[in-house]
Amino acid sequence: MNDSPAEGLEPDGASGRQCERFQGDAPESERCPAPAQFTIGRHVYFPILVCTAHLGLALLQAPNVLWPPEITRLK
Ligand SMILES: [Zn+2]
Repeated sequence: MNDSPAEGLEPDGASGRQCERFQGDAPESERCPAPAQFTIGRHVYFPILVCTAHLGLALLQAPNVLWPPEITRLK
């Protein structure tokens, strides 16, 4: 439901991967439809795929983000 790796996701955008963040704060809110542009490295958990708009928010709000941040740009 929330943090499982991309299984069954439709290819979307140049990277073929979709942003993993949500449009709103509530867990039941819609998934962000934007293609992922970056990954954010985390302790223990899988890296998060995010679009440009969610990069800053995810860095500050997602659990277990490495600090200083380890950000990779997807191609
Ligand atoms: Zn997004």
